[in-house]
Amino acid sequence: MSNSTQPQGSPIIIAIDGFSSSGKSTMARSLASRIGYRYIDSGAMYRAVTLYGLNHGYIKKNGTIDVIHLIKELPSINIDFKVMDDGKQHTMLNGIDVETEIRGMEVANHVSHVATIPEVRHRLVDLQQEFGRQKGIVMDGRDIGTTVFPDAELKVYVNAPAETRAQRRYDELRAKGDATTTYQQVLENVKSRDYQDMHRAESPLRKAPDAIELDNSNMTLAQQDAWLIRQVNNTTSLNK
Ligand code: C5P
Repeated sequence: MSNSTQPQGSPIIIAIDGFSSSGKSTMARSLASRIGYRYIDSGAMYRAVTLYGLNHGYIKKNGTIDVIHLIKELPSINIDFKVMDDGKQHTMLNGIDVETEIRGMEVANHVSHVATIPEVRHRLVDLQQEFGRQKGIVMDGRDIGTTVFPDAELKVYVNAPAETRAQRRYDELRAKGDATTTYQQVLENVKSRDYQDMHRAESPLRKAPDAIELDNSNMTLAQQDAWLIRQVNNTTSLNK
């Protein structure tokens, strides 16, 4: 959106956490463009590391991960975001646009496992904190309000039932031309990622005590956007 209006006061950090396919990325991206902040999709960063591992044979299709080699390669894995010709921000892995590849089911099937590796998390948290150094950022993920930016001025925790989220993800895959993945497969993937995200030892998904909870099951995108803008305005007017 071109007519973005920066909120009043000094720039803040907005952390949006929640389960997979809860719609948090859509909310976060739309908010960032409306208020002229930078948007960072931290899940895309875990997906990019997973893609790197799959492409280099460190992650096998049966789920085995050569953790030692993957960790050794971490310093040479560079992840950035770039606005491309379609006007959208794409994920760049070592300078290559991997936006489409990281959204497929193969990456989705392995990413939560990769996200349990502490060294991967430390490297990505460092990069995420670097992105937020100047503030004026909206970042979405699982541990943004708890680990990456525990002092974020505004924290939102998005929730919705697994079935609602699986249906959204299934519709997205269909719209992108995936005609083979079934709703049941998507639902299983969503549930298994929920479980892994909530039960891992390092930075499990949980609501930060000072986060505002939102169940967006019955909200339109416009209602979500309006709700979020109200939270930003409340926070920034306190932060002046
Ligand atoms: O948000 P998205 O579903 O694209 O994230 C992909 C995966 O990356 C999640 O299922 C989760 O396992 C992991 N992730 C994470 N911490 C984050 C963001 C994502 O562990 N901050």
